[in-house]
Amino acid sequence: MPVSDRPILILGGTAEATVLAHDLLAAGFPVISSLAGRTSAPKLPEGEVRTGGFGGTQGLADYISLRQIAVLVDATHPFAFQISRNALQAARLSQCPFIRLERPGWTAVDGDHWIDAADIDEAVAALPAGARAFLALGRQHIAPFLQLAGQHYVLRMIEPPDDAFDLAGHEIVLARPGTVEEERRFLEDRDITHIVCRNSGGSASYAKIVAARQLNIPVVMIGRPQGSNITVAPDVQGVVDFVRRTLRN
Ligand code: NAP
Repeated sequence: MPVSDRPILILGGTAEATVLAHDLLAAGFPVISSLAGRTSAPKLPEGEVRTGGFGGTQGLADYISLRQIAVLVDATHPFAFQISRNALQAARLSQCPFIRLERPGWTAVDGDHWIDAADIDEAVAALPAGARAFLALGRQHIAPFLQLAGQHYVLRMIEPPDDAFDLAGHEIVLARPGTVEEERRFLEDRDITHIVCRNSGGSASYAKIVAARQLNIPVVMIGRPQGSNITVAPDVQGVVDFVRRTLRN
């Protein structure tokens, strides 16, 4: 017997969002998970799943009203700016209870050599001439790096890019993030001098940070944007507690 008639909408695309869908269903809450539809064979969360954009803030607000969403959870990636902005505005427009699930960022520990960058432009500027940089970034963030001559870039992608992508002279590796050992080999085999990445937090892509520490490779770490004044939970349980409190269960 569900404890709420109205579903919780989870904006997902992250490992945490998948766990959250499972935990909310287990606690008796109906759930709809929303995926952007970027990957061809995503691991689907349990429960109802919808795929594709809503058509901006108003489209999301309309969906919230159509499906009588009880709570909106933004569990998207920390650097998925647009959908997070839309989610906040749509929740306000439709007066829907809202929470963001955001895993804490990484912090540097002894042995890390991080160069902080506020954004992609600062990251480009932080690379010295002649760097051989592993750009651990989405394909959409690469163009500014290509303006600089004399650098060598390595990109790693899970799926081959489906559009023309001029990386002549650079390297695309089709692979997933690996263990610390695998990441060490990846960096050593390519004589990588720098890693550029965003402070995503979580464990899924942390092995390369450990490998960089072991190999004494500097990491240009792009920080997160300053958050707005919203309710944020650092983990899945925090969101489940919020949903329970909000729906008084
Ligand atoms: P984005 O730039 O913030 O969003 C662009 C547009 O994609 C949004 O305006 C929205 O379209 C649609 N969209 C994004 N996430 C959606 C979702 N969960 N459900 C329905 N529509 C969604 O997003 P992004 O950085 O391209 O990331 C896309 C997805 O990949 C996110 O769900 C995110 O959690 C996941 N992801 C991103 C990263 C990353 O590094 N950015 C890493 C891992 C996973 P409409 O305006 O039409 O609604």
